[in-house]
Amino acid sequence: NKLKEGLTKTRDGLSSKLGEMLNLAVTIDEDLYEELEEILITADIGVETSLKIIDKLKEKIKEEKIKDPIQIKPCLKEILIEMLGQYEEETTFPKVMLIIGVNGVGKTTSIGKIANNFKSEGNKVLIAAADTFRAAAIDQLEVWSNRAAVDIVKHQEGSDPAAVVFDAIQAAKARKVDVLICDTAGRLHNKKNLMNELEKINRIVEKEFSNGKKETLLVVDATTGQNGVQQAKLFKEVCNIDGIILTKLDGTAKGGVVISIKDVLGIPVKYIGVGEGIDDLQEFNAKEFVEALF
Ligand code: GDP
Repeated sequence: NKLKEGLTKTRDGLSSKLGEMLNLAVTIDEDLYEELEEILITADIGVETSLKIIDKLKEKIKEEKIKDPIQIKPCLKEILIEMLGQYEEETTFPKVMLIIGVNGVGKTTSIGKIANNFKSEGNKVLIAAADTFRAAAIDQLEVWSNRAAVDIVKHQEGSDPAAVVFDAIQAAKARKVDVLICDTAGRLHNKKNLMNELEKINRIVEKEFSNGKKETLLVVDATTGQNGVQQAKLFKEVCNIDGIILTKLDGTAKGGVVISIKDVLGIPVKYIGVGEGIDDLQEFNAKEFVEALF
């Protein structure tokens, strides 16, 4: 199980420490809560979210009249599953996915993986290279489109991203594509430009793709932990985000960031990246995730 394997480091930090602590504890007291809070923060759950978890836990312990420290673990699991929630989606086609995120977070790789997933489910997929800022990014996306064996619409470096999206939508309609995945910009350092660019793309999608469903997903690198949450906050100020693609969950000790993102931003995680290969993207499931974490 790739998820379980990938979360080894986070689990070592969270679950193992928690287990040790609970085995030694005799009563549920303030010291225990403090220690627990520290363990949560160390797993990159974030201070704000960790405090909220502790509060919920205290309430539950009181309500259910729990006395034995060993029962804290199942309580905690329940609380986390509830906090994580589930990405709600009716799978209607055709749909257009706008993928945003800064360089290096795993945007290109994730697009390739999503294309591959939809394609292997029997859908017709098209990729649009609308992050036109760097030629290398367009080339790299083409490598992934070849890997997934799906078509790509691209223009030259520096061309208008909205024009790429416009062309891709025409091609998608002509070819009866089910899923159009657009790689869009992610230069956060110029928020005004980014906002304009995304607004223009959104207008084109709404006008040219009015019969389809639009979904905007932000790619966040799990290894950046709480910085990733800050990044997502900034993007949220620029555009509407439906869901998060959290990459590189394999091998990081910061897997707790999933909980923080949902709690602080109110944006559910839709996909998680658990490796560099084309099959290494999974739909996020709160229960599975929490089970793998403990
Ligand atoms: P972009 O600049 O955002 O398009 O990032 P890329 O898609 O090029 O990915 C940057 C690096 O992260 C590459 O070396 C990828 O192989 C790696 N990467 C992306 N997703 C994952 C993942 O889920 N797990 C791991 N381990 N590496 C990943």
